[in-house]
Amino acid sequence: MTAKQTCPHLAAVRTVRGPARRECEECVKIGASWVHLRTCQTCGVTLCCDSSPNRHASKHAHASGHPVIASAEPGERWLYCYPDDAITSY
Ligand SMILES: [Zn+2]
Ligand SMILES: [Zn+2]
Ligand SMILES: [Zn+2]
Repeated sequence: MTAKQTCPHLAAVRTVRGPARRECEECVKIGASWVHLRTCQTCGVTLCCDSSPNRHASKHAHASGHPVIASAEPGERWLYCYPDDAITSY
């Protein structure tokens, strides 16, 4: 399966939101650790990636319906849309 280049959700992102703090809000609450961080482009929450044990960013996207995350890793400049499985760099 090939990821599409663009989708309406990615196209709607005008200003990319970065992490307020470089930590997963949910992991901090439960004392867990994470691998990489992602920032929700709808509400701005920063959560952990699918390589992390708790996969909070994916859980948040599915529970809230917020479609787009950005990488919160230094030097990474990309956005990902969950419903369309689409990725774009900026
Ligand atoms: Zn989309
Ligand atoms: Zn987490
Ligand atoms: Zn959100």
